[in-house]
Order: sequence, then structure tokens, then C-alpha cells
Amino acid sequence: MTVLFNNNQEKIIPVVAIRQGVIFPHAEMTLTFGRSKSLAAIKAAFKSNRLICLFTQKDSRVHDPDIDDLYRIGTVARIEDVLEDKKLKHALIRGLVKVRLESLQTKEPFLIGSVSEVNDIAEDSSEVKALYKNLLNDFQRAINLGKSVDARVIIRLMSGVNPAELADQVAYVLDLETDKKQKLLELTDVRLRLEKVTEYLSHEIKVLDLEKAIASKTQKKFDKTMREAILRERKKTIEEELGEISEEDTEMKEYEVKIKKAKMPKEVKEKAKQELKRLSKLNPNHPEVGYIRTYLDWLTEMPWAKSSPNKHSITKAAKVLEEDHYGLKKAKERVVEYLAVMKLKEKNKKHPKKGRKKEEEIGGPTILCFIGPPGVGKTSIGRSIARSLGRKFVRMSLGGTRDEAEIRGHRRTYVGAMPGRIIQGIKNASTNNPVFMLDEIDKVGIDFRGDPSAALLEALDPEQNYEFSDNYLEVPFDLSKVMFITTGNILDTIPPALRDRMEIIRFPGYTEEEKFNIAKKFLWQKQLRANGLDKKKIKLADSALSEVINRYTREAGVRELERNLATICRKIARKEAEKKRVKGTVIKADVVKHLGPRKYSETMIEKEDQIGMATGLAYTQAGGDIILIEVALMPGKGRLLLTGKLGKVMKESGKAALSYVRSRWQPLQLREDFYKEIDTHVHIPEGAVPKDGPSAGVAITAALVSAFTKIPVRRDVGMTGEITLRGRVLEVGGIKEKVIAAHRAGLKTVVLPKDNKKDLEEIPTKVKKDIKFKFAEHMDEVLGIVLKTKTTRKRPKKITRNIPSRTVSLAS
Ligand code: ADP
Repeated sequence: MTVLFNNNQEKIIPVVAIRQGVIFPHAEMTLTFGRSKSLAAIKAAFKSNRLICLFTQKDSRVHDPDIDDLYRIGTVARIEDVLEDKKLKHALIRGLVKVRLESLQTKEPFLIGSVSEVNDIAEDSSEVKALYKNLLNDFQRAINLGKSVDARVIIRLMSGVNPAELADQVAYVLDLETDKKQKLLELTDVRLRLEKVTEYLSHEIKVLDLEKAIASKTQKKFDKTMREAILRERKKTIEEELGEISEEDTEMKEYEVKIKKAKMPKEVKEKAKQELKRLSKLNPNHPEVGYIRTYLDWLTEMPWAKSSPNKHSITKAAKVLEEDHYGLKKAKERVVEYLAVMKLKEKNKKHPKKGRKKEEEIGGPTILCFIGPPGVGKTSIGRSIARSLGRKFVRMSLGGTRDEAEIRGHRRTYVGAMPGRIIQGIKNASTNNPVFMLDEIDKVGIDFRGDPSAALLEALDPEQNYEFSDNYLEVPFDLSKVMFITTGNILDTIPPALRDRMEIIRFPGYTEEEKFNIAKKFLWQKQLRANGLDKKKIKLADSALSEVINRYTREAGVRELERNLATICRKIARKEAEKKRVKGTVIKADVVKHLGPRKYSETMIEKEDQIGMATGLAYTQAGGDIILIEVALMPGKGRLLLTGKLGKVMKESGKAALSYVRSRWQPLQLREDFYKEIDTHVHIPEGAVPKDGPSAGVAITAALVSAFTKIPVRRDVGMTGEITLRGRVLEVGGIKEKVIAAHRAGLKTVVLPKDNKKDLEEIPTKVKKDIKFKFAEHMDEVLGIVLKTKTTRKRPKKITRNIPSRTVSLAS
């Protein structure tokens, strides 16, 4: 080294700035130069003594560095050779000694610096020896772990060099940032340099170790999948050679056939083929394979082009409906009308140009909606419609649907995703034009997951449903040929948007006579058949049937009745099977043997009239019903208690009733403060059934008046009506159902609001014959009818305060 620098003189040498990396003494490498100044310096040096000074730049981005842009410690190197191509120059150099850049002599045409040699501080201690040995070992280990180092360097180091060179050579190959490497170069103490280099190298060894571990794991995995793929491919080749078809191939072929058979619309077919292609590419154990298969099954099993033949005869439909059902005249008529309109519309569709105008003229709602209590034949009529049209019948309950996804399906990205109920129903029908009954439309709810009624509307509305989109299916399905019928118990809870689109047909519930006929003509025969009994041999006496209707059932429909008849048939069938003697006719006395004690032992009129008890008429989900209102008075502080699972409106009408009674203390001949020292409890039994609405106002008032005046209320008089604080009786709904219920319960008189007189038209003649109707405009008139007294009380004297000037009398 001292070869270059005698007596620590400074030397003037061309300088080249290095953008990145640090050149150490002893290192041999090829450098590439691109900047013109560097090229000029190399050329000049190569021509003279071949010595060049290399200093690293502090910031690699500086293009034309000055002295301050360079680290001051660098290396003098000898240019062994120069290679040139068009633009760049490559120089093979060898590092010689470490130097300090004292100053720059000139910057043009290239940098020339004045440099002085920097000497290492070397010691020959055992510590240095140990460090040397250790570093050499680590270096070997790094190479074994795959560190790439020039073979010549390895050979040189292994053949033995001095500690300073070892430190420099290893430092040069370390995987380090430029500034850290520069610091190593600047360390003149060899011992410290060895220590620092060892530290960096051992960190590198750790990283190499880790990389190796990861690489071997990956390799293992890769090997396994490769092996499987190769084996599968080999299996395929063998099977082909043997003329066998693999399982997967069979499956693919099956799907291809299924897709062809399904006669899908073009767009759907494309989707199916795309999925099939994806399936064929996946490893059979891939988790997605199952999902794709299920999806393909759905796609291929949907009835895209399968319809029942369109046999559409109005006369036949009318005949079938008549054959299957007793009564229900109005419902049948409207269904037939509806079918006629449907037929007309279909015709117009066939001639779109001619028909358009006509179709608009017909307009109106196009979905049928049957409303009525359970067991009145809604489903049964739906089935008959399907039968008369020669179409399939499917049924689905919407009860409790709160989530749009139940109607429209979940996206396929969800685990366990399924199409919505509409598409499920269509698949079950396996034709694309079934009669589709959606039950419990009145029990569809709305919550945060969306409004199912919007999705329903899209499905049901023929204007929109020819492209019904299900989230799971992803492709549109044409629902326009489906005949949708919805059913529900009450109209009020159906979302208005849906209600507007539907043709409502009401099923009000049956009278006793109708039930009798239905049972006689249909239910009894049906149950005999179902239980394998001979229709001709076993008869049901009329008196026995009436007994079952009156003493074992109390319902608007005929479900309970049918169940009771089924029980009787079962008992007889058992006797037959046990070879016991079976009577030809079931008479009234047999009923109790078959069905046990009477469920409803006495009718309403057979009960005694009582104080503080009135008979109200209500309209619930189960149709019309009788409600008994009880009032109890007890010593207290003038409080009012209302119980029996009453809704808000019903509670309010209870409060209004009490206020009305209080305001009428004079005509009722009560003390002015009659309520002050008593608590009043109004209870409406059958607590489990929620009750609401204002129409019990009249009955509550009657019960209250009876309790305070101690005059009993006639139990056989049913009443309904809302009352105002001034005692006016207002019109209420559900009259037909309520009156039929009153008839069923054996009531003799029914008091209705005067404005409901018009509703009598709808009531069956038989009922009208049996029941006396009274109409009231004011509560006083009602009290005159229902309180059981030919009052002997005097007419009240002059009425003052609070009381309308109209005469008030409790006498009828
Ligand atoms: P809903 O759907 O209204 O609850 P269903 O249609 O299930 O009632 O009727 C219950 C049973 O009563 C069925 O067996 C049905 O055939 C029978 N039924 C109801 N109404 C009639 C009727 N008018 N004529 C003949 N059978 C009837």
C-alpha cells in the first residue's frame, strides 16, 4: 500500500463519484459508468497510471456532485481493464488503499482530488485472532445457507488473509444499506471493524436460516399439489387408453346434457357454461366445487321452458269450483270473473299491436288476495283454480318473513346461500306457470334488513315480474306466467303498496247451516275416504252433525269440525279393524262416545244474565267472535284498571266509557261522586288473544253502567260500536263476520250502530231470519235495549251540566 503514498504525501488523482454502494480496499469488481464526467476520469486515468479514487455520494440523486456531496473516506483503485459499449463504460477495478479526500483540485472536465492515505490501526491480540476465526466460520455458514459470493473471493479468504482484508472483503459482500457500509469503511480500528462486521453477518445468517425454512415448507406444499396434478393427469391418460371415462368427466358430461335439456334462455345458458368451465378447472377437493355444483343444479333444474298446457275454459273453471265447494257464491263468482279477465289479457298479449289498447282498458289489480279466518276454504279454492286450469299448485307461507333475502335469496358469496322462497316454490312446481299460493301475506314484517314487501311486489306484479331477479340465481327468471294468489286473515296489516295491487276477495266465515252442508256434502265423505271406510255403509245423522257443530266447535271456518269428523271416522275404522260390530249410522248419542264430553256445554243464551257483564262482538284473526266484558267494583280511590291483553285503542275506549258514565250520573240516578271511593276493574277474558280496536266501546259502557246501577245486562244481546264522550255511537267494521259469530253463539238480538244499517245486505238470509237487529245512534238507546229492566225509575228531572239537551231515558 505504501507503494502509492510515500511519507504520507497527498496525491492528486482523478475522482469518480459512486451513486450507490461502497468500494473497499481488496475488493475486485466491475463498475459501470454512465455520467460523462466519470467516463472522462476513467479514460484519463486508464491512459496514465490507471489509478482512480472512488468516493460514495451522500445522496445518490445528485447528478453533478461537489466535494460536500461526497463522503470524505473512499478507496483508491487500480483500473485493470476497460470495456466499452455504445453508451456505457465498464471498468474492472481492484481496491487498493483507503484514502481521505482533502480537497478538489478541479471539477472540469472531471473531478480531480487531492487525497491522503488512511492507515488502519491493527493489533495482533488473541482477541483479534478469535474474532478473525469466528468471522471466517460465520462466512462459511452464510455461504452454506446460500449467500452468493464470487468464488474467487471465497478461495482467497479461505487460503488466509490478514484480519483487515477479511473484514473489508466480508463487509463488501454484506447485504447492507450504503450508509452502514460507509461507516464500516470509516472504522480504522481493525478489531472494531471485525466485531461490527461479525454482528451484521450473524443477523444475515438468521435471515438466511428463516428463508430456508420457509422455502422448504413452500416446496413441500408445491411438491404435493404437483404430484396430485401429475397423478390426476396420468390417471386420465390411463383411463383414456383403456376407454374408461373418469368420474369428473362423467359429471361434466351430465351437466352438459342437463344444460341442454333445461332449454334455458341464451344469457342463462352462457352463465351455466361459464360455471361449468370453472368447475372443470378446479381440483375436486377445492371448497368451491360444492357451491358451484349446487348452483348448477339450481340453474339446470329450474323450469325455464316447462309449462303445463294452457287449458283455459271459463265454464270448466266455474264447474270445478262448484263441484269442490259448497256456498261461497260471491268468492266463486269473483274468481271466475278474474279468470275471464286473465284469459282476455292473454289473448291480447298474443297480438301485441292490436291488443295493447284493450289491455290498458282492462287494467286494474292482477293478483288475487283471499282474506278470511282459518278454515274457510281459501286454500281449497286455490287448489280448485289450479285443477280447473290444469296447472300445478304450490303453496308457501310468508308468515314471519322480515328479511328481503327470504323472498329474493342470498348472494352466492354467503355460506349456505339459497334462492328466495319464490324461486324455491317455482322449482318445486317444476313448471313455470303454476298457481302459486302465498299464505299469511298479512304477517310479512319490515325490519332493518330490508322491506320484503318491495321484493314481493316485484315478484307478484306482472308489469315487473317477467325479469324477476333472485340474488342467488343471478340471472332473471320470467314469473309472468305464474298465477299468484295471496291469502291472509286480516286486511289491515297488509302493506298498502301490496294491497293496492291486489284484488281482495273476502271469505267471511260460515253460518251453522253452511257448515252443516259443507260437512254433509264434503267433509264427511272426505274423512270416510281418508280412513278407508265404506261411504255407503256409514252415515252421519243430522242431529249428530249438529251436535258436533254446536257443542264441539266454535269457529268461523270448518277446520275444527273436519278434525272432529276425522276423529269419529278413526274410531269407527279402529272398531272395524278389531272386527267389532259397527253401527250403520252415527247418531247424536254416539258423538259423546267418540269425542268425549261436550266442549261448549251451553250456548250464550242458556247462561244467566248478570250484573256488570256485557256481550260484545269482535272481529279478530279467527274471524268474528263473541267477547264477554266483565266489570268488578271494589272499595278504592277512583282508579280504573283494564286487563285482558288489550291494545292501546281498546284501553282508550275503556277510559272514554268511564268518563261517559261519570258525566251521566244524573240520568243514571247515581251519586255525583259515585266513583270516588271505588276502583273499577274492566276485564275481557281469554287473555292470551290480543284484542284491540274501538268497537268494544258500547259493550264496555253497558257493562260499566250495569255494574254501577246494579241492573243486569241481557246476555243474549250482542253489541258492537264505538262511542264518543258524549255517547254518540259510531260506525264500525267487520259487521258480517260479527253477526255470523253472534248467530253461531245463539244470540237473539244484535245492537249495531245506525250507520252500519247498509251492511245488513251482505248477511245470509238465514241469519237475518234468526236474529233481531236494533240500530242505535246514541248510547242511551243501547242501554234501553240491553239493560234487563222495564225501568220503573222516574224520568230524570231537569238536566243541567255536561248533559246534552236530548231526553235521556233508560226505558226502551
Ligand atoms: P283456509 O285455507 O281458509 O284456512 P282450507 O281451504 O284449508 O281453509 O279449508 C279447510 C278444509 O275445509 C278443507 O278441507 C276444505 O276443503 C274444507 N272446506 C272449506 N270450505 C269449504 C267449502 N265451502 N266447501 C267444501 N269444503 C270446504
